Amino acid sequence: MPPAFRNLALLVLTFLFVPAHSWGHAGHEIVGYIADQLLDESDESGASSFVNEVLSNSTLQDVANWADTITKTEPWSLPLHFINVQVCDDDSCVFVPSRDCHGNTCVSGAVNNYTQRTLAQHSETLFDDLKFLTHFVGDIHQPLHCAKDADKGGNTIKPIYYDVTDQGSEFSLHQIWDFGIIENVMAEEYNGDVTTYGDYLLSLIQTDFSDEVEDWKCDTVSESTCAESWGQESVDTAMKYAYLDMQGNEIESEYEVEEDYAKTNRNVIEKRLAMGGVRLANIIELIISKK
Ligand SMILES: [Zn+2]
Repeated sequence: MPPAFRNLALLVLTFLFVPAHSWGHAGHEIVGYIADQLLDESDESGASSFVNEVLSNSTLQDVANWADTITKTEPWSLPLHFINVQVCDDDSCVFVPSRDCHGNTCVSGAVNNYTQRTLAQHSETLFDDLKFLTHFVGDIHQPLHCAKDADKGGNTIKPIYYDVTDQGSEFSLHQIWDFGIIENVMAEEYNGDVTTYGDYLLSLIQTDFSDEVEDWKCDTVSESTCAESWGQESVDTAMKYAYLDMQGNEIESEYEVEEDYAKTNRNVIEKRLAMGGVRLANIIELIISKK
């Protein structure tokens, strides 16, 4: 193969095998957008002004994907995007922090750590601390970011033949949950627009989810947050929905995704995005109330 083609082939391979470690761009932006809007609505707390000041007038939506852009230059940060549960069987998958999150090096540890750092307001790092916090609160709500180590959160389950608007049809199960289902819903119903989709989710927070929203929030940020239980929620959601087809069979490689799978799980994903946005706003409000 001529060198130019070999380099091109290597480049293509590199992109094909980059491990996914986040909601896609849209998922993170939506979580940030929901939190931005909720903080704006109740700005007597000063939380919205705090965010503006720390982020130099950028929004949580603007900075929500930053942590994914530095994983190559800051490889230490990569394990902070997920929880891989070491021991799972068909019926049970329990996140054990002492086993699955050594030295707090996982996404629940990261949410706790960057909450404490944002609370402490170290002036030299506060900008990055708040950006990390925004991103990791998003990641901990993606069910397959807190899932089985055996399949790396669905990354090794492929190919799944599922068409994503303008992006082809061969994705891992993890990628379908990171961005596939979200991108298709946005393209088909919201003109591909994050804020229009985000506004719909905000309307669900006021209606369908209104009875639950207060229960989603954590009471305190003083020593840790509720991140470990949020991680277990994602594990439970992955086990109940992401890993199973509509007949309750475990999804394996070569599996073809049914239309009903995407339809049902779209609702699951929307609730997780809404929860992420509500909880991010809540953490920031608690941080401000501690000032
Ligand atoms: Zn991430």
